[in-house]
Amino acid sequence: MTIETPVRITPRNANGAQAGNSGPPRRLELSVLRHNPHVAASVPHWQTYEVEEADGMTLFIALTEIREQQDPSLQFDFVCRAGICGSCAMVIDGRPALACRTLTKSLGRQVTLAPLPFFELIGDLSVNTGKWMRGMSERLEGWLHMVEHQPDISRIEPAMDPDLADRIYELDRCIECGCCVAACGTARMREDFVGAVGLNRIARFRLDPRDTRSDADHYELIGDDNGVFGCMSLLACHDLCPKQLPLSTQIAYLRRAMVRQGFK
Ligand code: SF4
Repeated sequence: MTIETPVRITPRNANGAQAGNSGPPRRLELSVLRHNPHVAASVPHWQTYEVEEADGMTLFIALTEIREQQDPSLQFDFVCRAGICGSCAMVIDGRPALACRTLTKSLGRQVTLAPLPFFELIGDLSVNTGKWMRGMSERLEGWLHMVEHQPDISRIEPAMDPDLADRIYELDRCIECGCCVAACGTARMREDFVGAVGLNRIARFRLDPRDTRSDADHYELIGDDNGVFGCMSLLACHDLCPKQLPLSTQIAYLRRAMVRQGFK
């Protein structure tokens, strides 16, 4: 099972002392790409805010401070602040990541923040990942298919083999943050590409013995260029997934298994 570690981004250059060092705290400059697509006069532009860095500060804390003390109109999303809800994903210095899991001390003094590309922009750093995830889930029927449509919930389910439960749990840790899709070259070229998040979902349900679908049923859903054969193995999804899911391993496994079954 993967053990999570906080997201850390390598500083681009030495443009300021690191927090925790002796000396005065750094004045961070956060440049945010701002735009409100619901306001006709809005034009995309960069706006820079200054924040004094504090020990243990995350980008989420810095943005909250800006919104509370400088600019209440700044839009960004959060729910859990613990890397579980996936809401605060954004492009941080050019790489998709979670604001709540990014320590400012891992960044340079000047930081650029932009919304995740590919998803519908709500405003500033807020995007509608939920709409895309729902569409993907409906296409892939990304839920447990059981014989009983209304299972008896008072019945005690037979215990699952612990090793299998671990393998399913490993893939179930996806928080649908959208970082893998935002980082994906294929997703930019193919609007209907299901992304690593979608392929991971098929891999997850394929493992589940309670799902009544056959391997062939699962493969049928992803057996084209909008599925597993569209992936160009650029590996950005694997490198940037904040939950460190084994995405490229799963995609490679699915592809090999499908080729063996005659998909091309
Ligand atoms: S696979 Fe990783 S990067 Fe992609 S949506 Fe799930 S948690 Fe986010």
